[in-house]
Amino acid sequence: MITIDREFSKRLGNAALLKAPSVWNALGHKATTTFAVENPATCEQIAHVPDFSRAAIKSAIDVARTAQKSWSRLTAKDRADRLKRRFGLWHDNLEDLALILTMEQGKPLAEARGEIRYGASYVEWFAEEARRLYGDIIPAPVANQKIMVTRQPVGVVAAITPWNFPNAMMARKVAPALAAGCAIVAKPAAETPLSTIAIANLAEQAGIPVELFCVLPMTDAPAFGDEVTSNPYVAKITFTGSTEVGRRLMEQGARQIKRFGLELGGNAPLIVFDDADLEKAIEGTIAAKFRNAGQTCVCANRIYVQSGIHDRFVQALSDRVETLTVGNGADPATAIGPLINPASIKKVERLLEDARTNGAKIIKGGQPVDRPGHFFRPTIISDVDCRMAIAREEIFGPVAPIFRFETEKEVLDLANDTEFGLAAYVFSSDIGCIFRVAEELETGMVGMNTGVISTEVAPFGGVKQSGLGREGSKYGLDDYIELKYICLAT
Ligand code: NAP
Repeated sequence: MITIDREFSKRLGNAALLKAPSVWNALGHKATTTFAVENPATCEQIAHVPDFSRAAIKSAIDVARTAQKSWSRLTAKDRADRLKRRFGLWHDNLEDLALILTMEQGKPLAEARGEIRYGASYVEWFAEEARRLYGDIIPAPVANQKIMVTRQPVGVVAAITPWNFPNAMMARKVAPALAAGCAIVAKPAAETPLSTIAIANLAEQAGIPVELFCVLPMTDAPAFGDEVTSNPYVAKITFTGSTEVGRRLMEQGARQIKRFGLELGGNAPLIVFDDADLEKAIEGTIAAKFRNAGQTCVCANRIYVQSGIHDRFVQALSDRVETLTVGNGADPATAIGPLINPASIKKVERLLEDARTNGAKIIKGGQPVDRPGHFFRPTIISDVDCRMAIAREEIFGPVAPIFRFETEKEVLDLANDTEFGLAAYVFSSDIGCIFRVAEELETGMVGMNTGVISTEVAPFGGVKQSGLGREGSKYGLDDYIELKYICLAT
């Protein structure tokens, strides 16, 4: 059912990572067609995977429903042990998982390895948290009563993930769902289904019942959304992707009061004050802006630089960007891989054209690379202001727009003037300023003097239209849990 290009297959140490997951046999609805997965660095087809229909989604939910009941009755230790086994397998297969990721998504292999380790860290973390699903005893207001609160799994969870982190975004959902005692039916992005198929096969190898985690690749994404928001047996929808699609799913789910976890779009400000350590600010900007070719939800989208340091910052960033090699992610020298598809190139071009016509200056880059694949030169533009489209829309490309500012109040007003509220970054050596600004920024996460903030131990998520709920950390199981209050009269 899955066919893999021969050269690609030969490079995999463990080709079983891309076999058809056994649960597909239990669905009773075989996919009659397939669709192609392309390498964005070469535009070559690297695999064909089944294109599942709405009938298969329904079957997967039914199968998951039965399996979830048995899974939730296991001891927390038993669930934790199987998840830990999966964590071990994840590391044993690191090189293959990274190669699969680079081949379908394009990011440099070193970044792909980082994503696999990051995904594994969620599996390890939630294997540990699975054993700490504590309840409470509450003093009763009435004599001879005991009030107990227990934490129970929500049931069957539907997961939808984007193409920019196909391994880690799914890991952040599957690990807490299974740890809490839920089952999960998952739709990866059509551009990048292979990484999710690989982690489903690892779950199977770790002894997790196959019906508990069913991956369904498909091209008809709205069919998945329609089914999971209307099927009464789906208790919760966890979605990572654009605000537009998240909003649509919520509207659809309102009829059945579905529970939602939403990790949506961002428009992160990165603020550099005059007293910042310039080297730290440059390295932080490179990490926050150019990782994954600028295709992350927490990417610095608006870079505000105070007047006193502005010109030095622009020069230093420009020198540093000069060192970033653009190329195929499989080449070890590559720092910037391709964008995911031609539409992404067009969007970046449109935003740059709008900025240019409204007065922005191109300092570096500004065009696609003339070679096969969807490559865009790392770009810096200055004299950007809040009227330009680039200040309002997620760029999702390797473009650093630089705004000049004078005062703390002015930059806070500008930074918060957006419907998004995912991440923000601030560079300053004034501890008072750091705390004031961190508190005033309307975002779920703030990086102070660093451009890298994601970790399994901290709550990842946004405010405003960047989402609902948090992934990772001690709070991360809450999304997959219902509280049950039991009143015992003695
Ligand atoms: P997208 O267009 O919203 O797609 C995300 C996922 O939703 C894909 O699997 C897509 O399937 C699916 N989808 C599309 N329409 C659907 C529908 N009507 N019903 C159900 N599913 C539907 O977003 P994207 O362009 O792939 O990803 C980029 C976005 O994700 C950016 O906005 C980024 O900021 C956000 N993101 C957020 C986080 C976070 O943690 N906050 C992390 C990563 C990315 P197809 O692939 O088949 O279209």
